[in-house]
Amino acid sequence: MESKETNILLTFSIIGLLLLGNVGSAVAVKGNLNNNADFNDSVNCKPVAGSEAKVKNVIVMVPDGCSQSVETLARWYSGEPLQLDEMLAGAVSTYSADSVITDSSSAATAFATGFKTTNGFVSVGPRNDTLLTTLDEESMVAPYSPLATVLEGSKLEGKATGLVATSRVTHATPAAFASHVDNRNNESEIMEQMVYEDIDVVFGGGSQYLLPKADGGKRTDGENLTEVLLGRGYQYVDNETEMLALSSGKAWGLFAGSHMQPDIDRAEFAPEEPSLCNMTEKAIELLSEDKDGFFLMVEGSQVDWAGHANDPIYEVTDFLAFDEAVKVAVDFAEADGHTLVIIFPDHNTGGMTIGSYYDSEYDDTSVEDVVNPLEGMNITAAGVANKIGEDLSSDNIKSQLKTWWGIDATDEDVDEILSLKNNGTSLDYAISEVISRNYTVIGWTTHGHCGEDVPLWAYGPDSPAGYMDNTEIAEYIADKLRFDLAETNEQLFVEVGNVFSADEYQLNTIDPENPVLKIGDAELPVNKNILVKGGVTHELEGIVVYAPATDKVYIPTEALSLINETKINGKLKYDSNGKSKYDRR
Ligand SMILES: [Zn+2]
Repeated sequence: MESKETNILLTFSIIGLLLLGNVGSAVAVKGNLNNNADFNDSVNCKPVAGSEAKVKNVIVMVPDGCSQSVETLARWYSGEPLQLDEMLAGAVSTYSADSVITDSSSAATAFATGFKTTNGFVSVGPRNDTLLTTLDEESMVAPYSPLATVLEGSKLEGKATGLVATSRVTHATPAAFASHVDNRNNESEIMEQMVYEDIDVVFGGGSQYLLPKADGGKRTDGENLTEVLLGRGYQYVDNETEMLALSSGKAWGLFAGSHMQPDIDRAEFAPEEPSLCNMTEKAIELLSEDKDGFFLMVEGSQVDWAGHANDPIYEVTDFLAFDEAVKVAVDFAEADGHTLVIIFPDHNTGGMTIGSYYDSEYDDTSVEDVVNPLEGMNITAAGVANKIGEDLSSDNIKSQLKTWWGIDATDEDVDEILSLKNNGTSLDYAISEVISRNYTVIGWTTHGHCGEDVPLWAYGPDSPAGYMDNTEIAEYIADKLRFDLAETNEQLFVEVGNVFSADEYQLNTIDPENPVLKIGDAELPVNKNILVKGGVTHELEGIVVYAPATDKVYIPTEALSLINETKINGKLKYDSNGKSKYDRR
């Protein structure tokens, strides 16, 4: 493998530098390594420290949908520096293949796979008819083709892998690390792929996508994936106490049927759920048992929803809960010395500003002007709306706003809230809008996402710095963990039509919800990492992916060798290593 050769070269280079220790040899050594800028840097600066500082673990953390303004507001609100403040390292672009304003799935595809895609797509190639005019169609990957992720690449390197989120784990950001579909709303399929991805630790919400409708879930394919997880040796937990009791091994913990509660609402509405910080700490504890290292993605999923809702208290408290999780990750990284922590939002949401059209203070804005209105708020606007319930009387609205947000709302405030509500705005959005405008110095510009760059925070050996395209994050991680995503793609996703002629394989859709690829006497169910042949079930190192838009099926290279054990239909079109001779594009 190329990376091993590079390592050997590097070792020789370091020995050369140490033994000869003169500029001439250093220049010669540099010439040897000119094809790899990162190793060049190590050789130029401090080769010995560089090799000791090898990255073994990577923790990616995403406070979904926020900006530097949110960090600033959270700092004023908490009254002390944040963990993230020490880690500011650069900025990251956010645009997707088809829009200057990304959605979460295309953004996560970029930093999970290294490729930009179409909004709504999850780690598959972009449509080629909607590309931004600034993008070159030639440089894009094949539309709808699955794209290997840094989680999948880490797994092939023998590392443990984990996903932690406060949304359903099938939501866009975690989904993009462990599934391949052309519609982020296809969460049943996403869940099935995740279950069969052999991830070591998965914590978050969304258990409804594990169970069939008959058992109270949302699945229409009749599968009970909780049973599948148990059958595959996972521990399955659904509350904080059970999660904290986990001491080793593989685990799934889904703590809500759908999304988990906002951090500030947990005590009031779901005290049995763990915090993001506790999930992160437990995930690191379990994953760090693997001597080969680990890859973990942690998402503070709901910072984004606070932005969508223009809810200032939801925004700062979920961001601060994320910062607590960052502390845990950095503490581990500091003690470990071989852990790289990379943090960035996928995009901004809500366009929050400190200062607004309605702010009368401006040049005289005091800390109290910023902080005091937030201090009386004890649950999210959605929580207040929940407490208001069906009783939309002025008295009830005023009373709940007083109790939960410490606001002495006027009749005019209530009229504004009800007028928005009557025009189709949800009650929580209406409360946030009116109270933000009339009682805070905080401005909002949209209920949607924003197109600007986002901050990059980092900690650990070889941590990134400067301005990066969001696709470069994936390449950076793969490089630091010493694998090549192009090779991972080749290993995991061989297009069946490139290897077999049309009469050699068939996608059996007799059960349309559970399609099965048949090649000779081998059967490979779609969305699973399974090959059944001659009554024997083989677990593959990757999942079988079907792209309905192109009617193409993708299987891991490993499957080719298994199929080849008895030759079918004469000569197959791959070499003795089972490696496809054909470019899957
Ligand atoms: Zn997002």
